[in-house]
Amino acid sequence: ALVSYDEQEALDRAQKIQSKIDEGTAGRLAGMVIGIKDLICEKGKQATCASNILSDFESIYDSTAVKRLRNEDALLLGRLNMDEFAMGSSTENSIYGPTRNPVDTSKVSGGSSGGSAAAVAADFCTAALGTDTGGSIRQPASYCGVVGLKPTYGRVSRHGLIAYASSFDCIGPLTHSVKDAALLLEILAGFDENDNTTSSRTVPDYQQFAENPDANIRIGVPEEYFGDGLDEEIKAGIQEQLNELEQDGAELVPIHLPHMKYGIATYYILATAEASSNLARYDGIRYGHRADIEEVEQELKKEKDALKEQIELAEGDKKVKLGAELEDVDSSLIRLYKKSRTEGFGTEVKRRIMLGTYVLSAGYYDAYYAKAQKVRRLIKQDFTDAFENVDVIVSPTAPTTAFDVGADIDNPVQMYLNDIYTISANLAGICSINIPAGTHSNGLPYGMQLMANTFEEGKLFNAARLVE
Ligand code: GLN
Repeated sequence: ALVSYDEQEALDRAQKIQSKIDEGTAGRLAGMVIGIKDLICEKGKQATCASNILSDFESIYDSTAVKRLRNEDALLLGRLNMDEFAMGSSTENSIYGPTRNPVDTSKVSGGSSGGSAAAVAADFCTAALGTDTGGSIRQPASYCGVVGLKPTYGRVSRHGLIAYASSFDCIGPLTHSVKDAALLLEILAGFDENDNTTSSRTVPDYQQFAENPDANIRIGVPEEYFGDGLDEEIKAGIQEQLNELEQDGAELVPIHLPHMKYGIATYYILATAEASSNLARYDGIRYGHRADIEEVEQELKKEKDALKEQIELAEGDKKVKLGAELEDVDSSLIRLYKKSRTEGFGTEVKRRIMLGTYVLSAGYYDAYYAKAQKVRRLIKQDFTDAFENVDVIVSPTAPTTAFDVGADIDNPVQMYLNDIYTISANLAGICSINIPAGTHSNGLPYGMQLMANTFEEGKLFNAARLVE
């Protein structure tokens, strides 16, 4: 879970915080130990994204999220494992190897913020920062039995977050309790001049919602989220929770989110398109892994010499064709880009870059990318309509409990289906939380997801406290 950690620095820092506590000048997070996912920049620390391409990259500035935590005297623990560039649902796509589930180490921790979820579940830290592009905070939180919050898009600054899919990416906390999540969001949220997608809305007193929860709320229950593919025990467990909420005064409202079934397809077109563009910057020149230029030049020379030799011997059309081939040979610069990226990126990241480049290419753009944008809008509209009548929407967070390490590694579509219930919230930009909802007969935890309209995190905390 923990991929780098400086003990001496942590001890020095703890001492400084202790003296502030003694003086009575300490911030609201004095001494809270918080781990940071390895793609959120901390000045002077590695930020590898669990990728070879950034394996020796160090941040030269603090992300806004880290700065805000430190300003309140949080004790930052170290850097946490993840799926490479946050692409995955199991924290197995990592140069550091998999992060195992602390509840049962033969199982995955979920992903892509698996290091964050595992570190909190194992009590390495009180809280962790993760990121959620399609479910990467909530799904590992569900698998490891902790609270995980994906705030509204634009609520928390992305400045200093290494981008995967910019119109989806959100930083959020993973914690043991809803109250801690509320406290952390209060500190993380708010306008940032360095991220023009942040909202300037005032940040409410979130803790108050977690302090005095109101049981008389309307909870939307979408039929589409309880159908085929959902583990029967998880379904029954959530139903039981809902019955209790109803007894306590909540109103359960059956609702429909008809476009939910297009969520996975829509997400994997749009997110990969954005990723292919965001990841174009890793060319091995400005920063990140660079292939050996001498090797590249030697290979190039060898190839050219071989072609020249063939041209000497050839005649007629063949000679012309080989001549054209020689003209077309990539320059050493292009080869350097290619080799650096080939060596730097893992299989899943390459798959996404190719998919994303394809859906954005001329001739396919309208059929895939533009179409997916339209479907995204329909999914958003489903939620807007539903929230006219309900405060929150409930669903399972994931269809199953944590699966075996290695089980889905060669089956990307199966891996993508882990996000079937979480992905729509990212497409719609709304907020959503995972709260532990029970233990399966297989001994593993499972979570329940609550979703609320944009900037209604208060309603999430309120409802989550009723379940907790
Ligand atoms: N599992 C999804 C993906 O691989 C979501 C990841 C995330 O939220 N970062 O894209």
